[in-house]
Amino acid sequence: MIIRALPEESPRKLNILLAEDNAVNSVLAQKLLQKQGHTVTSANNGIEALKLWEENRFHHFDIILMDVQMPEMDGLQAATRIRERELGTGAHIPIIAVTAHAMKGDRERCLAAGMDGYIAKPINPSELAKAIQATVPVGAKIAAVPADPVLKGPSDIELLARFDGDSALLKELAGIFLQECPRVLDEIRAALGTADLRALERAAHTLKGSVGNFAMPGPWETAQRLELLAKSGQLSGAQEIFHVLEQQIVRLNQILARHAAEPARQPL
Ligand code: MN
Repeated sequence: MIIRALPEESPRKLNILLAEDNAVNSVLAQKLLQKQGHTVTSANNGIEALKLWEENRFHHFDIILMDVQMPEMDGLQAATRIRERELGTGAHIPIIAVTAHAMKGDRERCLAAGMDGYIAKPINPSELAKAIQATVPVGAKIAAVPADPVLKGPSDIELLARFDGDSALLKELAGIFLQECPRVLDEIRAALGTADLRALERAAHTLKGSVGNFAMPGPWETAQRLELLAKSGQLSGAQEIFHVLEQQIVRLNQILARHAAEPARQPL
């Protein structure tokens, strides 16, 4: 990975997507960012942010500042959706979470949702500039491993062992999974939305079968819980379980993306 060191006196002028529902906070952040030389497009909630990000993929934003608490769709959900849609494209837009409460576990939740950085409100101008500088120049960096044991990923050795030590095979299967995964998650989301038990059972079963190959028990167990709930015919708590599953899958996908991107090793 190439790390571009930027001279501190001339920070890059960025094209920033700002998602913030509170008008006062939004205007303040816009002004601060503009004073730092950036261009800002603002969204009032996660749905708007997702839409703007998608519409502007090709003359793209450099970074997203994402408020965590917003109506319609919160920042965690919006970040999760963006990471799902980036899968297999090699793209990774830096996302900095902006949160009102520095509660314990907040940072971990943001990282688990695929965000790269984190700042607390009220926004401090120099902290904002620092967070942006720390996140953007590195480009496609992968979020730090969250401390939550549910999200603990396999070691490379554990993962490779599932593929008979064959890194080319792991690379191929990781690529297939990354491509298929958003579709299966969409199926689960749709089935939950319409309370379609059979579709939910089928999609959760498919996902369970796929993740089972990657030596990460968390998402396998969560997918199985959804499958069993659907089978039992009662869906109370299913949305919460799905939310955990989404976070676990983001984490797994971060790990797999690293392997999918790796150049195949030549045998010596
Ligand atoms: Mn808010």
